[in-house]
Amino acid sequence: MKKINNLPVIEYTNLSKLIDKRRVLLISSPSALVHSKKYLSHLNVVSSLNIQTADKKNIDQIILPKGDIDVCYAIGGGRVIDISRYLASKWNLEIICIPTIISTDAFLVDCTGLRERGGVTYIPSKKADKVIIDFDLIKKSDPKFNLSGCGDVLSIYTALFDWKESKENLSSSVYDVAQGILTGLISESDAIKEMDQRGLEVLVTQLALEVQLCYFYGNSRPEEGGEHFFVYCLENKIGAALHGEMVCFGILITSFLQGQSVSYIKEFMDKVGINYRPKGLTAPIVFETLMEMPQYIKDHYLARSVYNYYPFKKKEAEIKQFISSIL
Ligand SMILES: [Zn+2]
Repeated sequence: MKKINNLPVIEYTNLSKLIDKRRVLLISSPSALVHSKKYLSHLNVVSSLNIQTADKKNIDQIILPKGDIDVCYAIGGGRVIDISRYLASKWNLEIICIPTIISTDAFLVDCTGLRERGGVTYIPSKKADKVIIDFDLIKKSDPKFNLSGCGDVLSIYTALFDWKESKENLSSSVYDVAQGILTGLISESDAIKEMDQRGLEVLVTQLALEVQLCYFYGNSRPEEGGEHFFVYCLENKIGAALHGEMVCFGILITSFLQGQSVSYIKEFMDKVGINYRPKGLTAPIVFETLMEMPQYIKDHYLARSVYNYYPFKKKEAEIKQFISSIL
């Protein structure tokens, strides 16, 4: 039997109207609460947790706070929401997710990426029972966070190339729809650049379409390829950088290796103002990561991508030149 999951219910609303008299476990982070705290006065918060890491070992040590809890509220960015859905699933609790930034598709999906043994393991968790989006709250954050959310749509560019080349369960209809989601985002560059309510709605829509398409296909192959694999390996070296910004750099380097037009995707990133030079990223780190990739993808059983066959040794000079042109 094939079961097709659906997106969670998403409400665009004014958070200050949110009232919940049930006993709430609030899961958040100090930075997420800076702007959102004042909206939460009508929640009956009986307990709270702070999320600081996505390390599986640390997360599995978190215990459900004592006392009766009826519902979890996850308020924050991708990591807080990802981990909260995992904990709510483990504790069998309802979970309502309130993103404070749109930096990944974490508020839309039903699995959680946890770091384990130098890699990312996707563990089935649960999708949000409801997602509440207040654009006024999201607009309060630095636009760089929301711009980085484009990464999980733009990654379709390099993921589709790898998928087509591998011919593994290639579906031309899914391929074409994914292509449309990518060009849909790119066609809205003026709105994305503004990052006003319309731009944010476009971003949420394209992320949601990408997630729903992956549900129909059965996995994230249409949006996850070499660019994400590169990021999973890189994350061990530069830690706290924004996922979307690392993915955007991953798209540039991966499209270069694939021999695709880099300027097509870079022009969009430059126009809207996405930072693809994440904090801590240097040319030696990029090069070191690239050299490790052939082994990394084997060790972590990743799907076929350009990293399976690229002649790194032969192309060392070109790669170094490309890296220095981007960083
Ligand atoms: Zn991603």
